[in-house]
Amino acid sequence: MRKFSIAIVSLLSLLFLVTAFTSVDWGFYGHRKINRMAVFTLPPDMMVFYKKNIEYITDHAVDPDKRRYATKHEAVRHYIDLDHWGAYPFEDFPRTQLAVLMEYTDIFIVNQKNDTIQLFGHQLKKEENEIYLKYQISKKKSVVVPKKTYRSFFYNNIFSSYYEDEWLIDCDSMQQYFGDQIELDGCQKVFGVDTFSEYGVLPFHLVRMQNKLTTAFKRRNIKSILRLSAEMGHYIGDAHVPLHTTENYNGQLTNQNGIHAFWESRITVLFAEKEYDFFVGKAEYIEKKNDFFWDVILTSHSLLDSVLNIEKEMVQTFPEDQQFCFDDRNGRTIRTQCREFAKAYSDRMQGMVEDRMAATVYALGSLWYTAWVDAGQPDLSNLGKNNLSKEEQKELEELENAFRKGEIKGRVHGN
Ligand SMILES: [Zn+2]
Repeated sequence: MRKFSIAIVSLLSLLFLVTAFTSVDWGFYGHRKINRMAVFTLPPDMMVFYKKNIEYITDHAVDPDKRRYATKHEAVRHYIDLDHWGAYPFEDFPRTQLAVLMEYTDIFIVNQKNDTIQLFGHQLKKEENEIYLKYQISKKKSVVVPKKTYRSFFYNNIFSSYYEDEWLIDCDSMQQYFGDQIELDGCQKVFGVDTFSEYGVLPFHLVRMQNKLTTAFKRRNIKSILRLSAEMGHYIGDAHVPLHTTENYNGQLTNQNGIHAFWESRITVLFAEKEYDFFVGKAEYIEKKNDFFWDVILTSHSLLDSVLNIEKEMVQTFPEDQQFCFDDRNGRTIRTQCREFAKAYSDRMQGMVEDRMAATVYALGSLWYTAWVDAGQPDLSNLGKNNLSKEEQKELEELENAFRKGEIKGRVHGN
């Protein structure tokens, strides 16, 4: 009996492991396919170079997911929990990282008596335009700080040290900015607390990636161009997935656990290769990058209700014993949605998965093209094929090892 239950337990944990391992965004398959197909949207001046390196662009499509096991800053770049911050269409939600962090960073001072008092932050009262928010000296008396001053203070003291472990601010700097308005005599320590980033920074990371890629083109740095091109494919891919824009990223809040991998991984693996059409036309120049990223993410979010509601309906109406099947994958047995069930769900969504995947291919080609144009259309014809140096090879192996050990730094978001 004991032996039997041990066997059951190990079988279950093996199933769990295998399921967990295979549930990555767009699946490994989807991300690789998107990167590969985007090469064919490019104009001839670019396509020659990208084709030469198509294996690299394909193979490195999932590096950002592997990196989530190596640094705590990585996980939050793959999603944004928009519904944590409001409701569609999120008109009041700031569209830049600086504005968003200014709004959602709490700043505290420790005074002479060792009391910790909040100076600025997201729960405090805010005013329009010039005036940022009010600092309360006491219940009766509050101080108004101009938004301009606050922005300058914030940029120099917090935003510039975003990647530091602790956001510590000099008492002297506080004195310099707010000494006239706030009593800072007994200042022992001032620190900021980020209440935003844990809910995801995807749109802001896309902006950063696009800037980096443009710089890489300007420098004609072949290694950076390829690495950033491949990784941009990953992030813009995640941005096209509705479940990457919600706190309910794996249906865990609505009793739909597993929907994440079902939607983006299982369905694509089953149907993309034979049934999807990736002929999306030519890459186009994107004038307003930030607006473009937000359009992608808001469109994803607007599809979320369908993704969740249709799955719920399918689970209730599709014959229960035909929903899950056992599949053999590389000699291991895994429990996964049956093909017919996946097909029925996909059909009820009227090709949404295919549309989002194809839209990613178009977006990615256009972003590569835009970076190249913004860099002044550098000649790529004499840039060759990227060969990895010994150090790069080693770094990749380390990523791979951390990934296999499977310990995500930071919060686990449905991948
Ligand atoms: Zn991802």
